[in-house]
Amino acid sequence: MEKETLNSPGIEIPPDIQGTVTVTTLDRLYNWSRRNSLWPMMFGLACCAIEMICAAASRYDISRFGMEVMRPSPRQADFMIVSGTVTKKMVPQIVRLYNQMAEPKYVVSMGACANGGGPFKEGYNVVPGIDRFLPVDVYIPGCPPTPQALLNGLITLQKKVDGESIKTARWYQKAPIDAVPIPVLGPDLMDPRQYDNIARISRLKNDEAPSTNVLEEPPISSTNIEEVGS
Ligand code: SF4
Repeated sequence: MEKETLNSPGIEIPPDIQGTVTVTTLDRLYNWSRRNSLWPMMFGLACCAIEMICAAASRYDISRFGMEVMRPSPRQADFMIVSGTVTKKMVPQIVRLYNQMAEPKYVVSMGACANGGGPFKEGYNVVPGIDRFLPVDVYIPGCPPTPQALLNGLITLQKKVDGESIKTARWYQKAPIDAVPIPVLGPDLMDPRQYDNIARISRLKNDEAPSTNVLEEPPISSTNIEEVGS
């Protein structure tokens, strides 16, 4: 952030001390330090991850934004780039990693697959959007988004950080922040938040299903037994 934007607007600094004095707010200082040291978590899911890797290389160089330190541990990462197709088999692990990240934390959904399933939306094994499970802060469109598009998304995330306030940020509230319930992969993906609905729909389907009483089947007659035995 340039000095002009770090300074609080409306506060005039005498010209002779402008090079040495900055008058700002705690919110601005706090956001300025965080937005310039956002560390992404190092993982990729599919082809979009190749574009993410390109953004970290010398040509695009996300170190210009203080984001080059990709962390292999969620406990050291500030934001998660969901880059690629989210399969039902993978989403429990993604949610678990998100829960292990410390606050403040952010989610960037990169590409058509992470945004809404992309070309595999109708696939039996694909989640139609990571935002069904995680709170997404920035969506990046494209299949795949270019490294420039990713950089634009990261700048958008920085702008979002600039607008936060210590008074309202969720990680400074007194109430505890609940972890996102981890989905369970059984016959299909089940979201624990939807268990009541799933149970209600199952009961309705059971009530509507025709009864299959085995006693209604015709009994085996003695003649049939003789025919089988002969
Ligand atoms: S959005 Fe396109 S490029 Fe990205 S993971 Fe999906 S299919 Fe691959």
